[in-house]
Amino acid sequence: MTVADETELLVRTRRDLHRHPELGFQEHRTAGIAAERLRAAGYKVQTGLAGTGVVGTLHGGAGTGPTLLLRADMDALPIHEQTTHDFPSGTEGVMHACGHDAHVAIGLAVAERLARSRGEWGGTVKYMFQPAEEGLGGAVGMIDAGVLDGVDAALGLHVWLGLPSGIVGVVQGPQMAGAGEFHVTIHGRGGHGAIPHETVDALMIASQCVVALQTVVSRTVSPLEPAVVTVGSFHAGTAHNVIAATAELVGTLRAFDPTLLDELPGRVEGVIAGVCAALGATYDFQYRKEATPTVNDRRLAEIVRVEAERIVGAERVRTDPDVRTMAAEDFGDVLEQVPGCYFFVGGRNEERGMIHPHHSAHFDLCESCMPVGVDVLEAAALRVLKGGLAS
Ligand SMILES: [Zn+2]
Ligand SMILES: [Zn+2]
Repeated sequence: MTVADETELLVRTRRDLHRHPELGFQEHRTAGIAAERLRAAGYKVQTGLAGTGVVGTLHGGAGTGPTLLLRADMDALPIHEQTTHDFPSGTEGVMHACGHDAHVAIGLAVAERLARSRGEWGGTVKYMFQPAEEGLGGAVGMIDAGVLDGVDAALGLHVWLGLPSGIVGVVQGPQMAGAGEFHVTIHGRGGHGAIPHETVDALMIASQCVVALQTVVSRTVSPLEPAVVTVGSFHAGTAHNVIAATAELVGTLRAFDPTLLDELPGRVEGVIAGVCAALGATYDFQYRKEATPTVNDRRLAEIVRVEAERIVGAERVRTDPDVRTMAAEDFGDVLEQVPGCYFFVGGRNEERGMIHPHHSAHFDLCESCMPVGVDVLEAAALRVLKGGLAS
């Protein structure tokens, strides 16, 4: 296959998937395409893992070696697409607004290259096409299905609008934050807006909670340690002359440090408990951890950096802390179990208007980043499969 043919197939695959987006755990068509191409390339294919997950396994022809997990996520988002390109979503209310269409296209290209070169490497490749990355626990489902059994290392990438097209971003240690979601219900006592002294105003108390929560990061977390507490939703009240009996707050917690991430819910609840106690309300607090921080292994991040610099040049590889993001990603659940590296390939193109953030209805990515992703992921995989972890 020529480079031009491969690039054409990459773009064609990505656009086809873009036209047919599927929500988490519903990726039947996408999984079918992945399974068919993996089989055609010679992989032994398992389907239906964690619902719609696919794993292709291939043994190298050059003897023993490590087992390497490679990963692409497949799901789209419940967003009504508002882009202007000529391959928009054909499914109402569903859109590939995170770039997972590109991840599947890149993953299949890398899988096919590794199949063509299997005589040159030892060990085993497990290529995971994972469902439901967008907050639905697809990675955990695949881990529970045993996908990490015997795996020595893991690699994956995200196309990333935070970086210009084709720039590779990789850091040692945390690359993406861990995340959790909290729900708070404040219970007061409703009543007449003109008779406030006979009520417990849940709306006012929830407002105090929102303000007091701003101190969790600013006054309990070291200024040198990244963390976020965001209240993203506040609902209370029904009419101008009614004091609200209840109020609901929903928010997200983020941190790079796993211990800190596990401590934040307790600190948030402590603030809410204190404010409610002071002002006469009660509360319910619920927390759900969504993702562990995505923490790169030092050796594997170094392999990705070296290979990326060889392929795109040192001036197009960024390793500074600003590459990191407080966005989260469930590949962190994989990297909690096995050493690995998750890196970014820039997809931003100002001239062509590809500037909208991930999860925007206007999101689009510069497709010329996709061959870079293929080259770097393949090269890093080959380094690992040829014994790079031992050196
Ligand atoms: Zn996303
Ligand atoms: Zn994503």
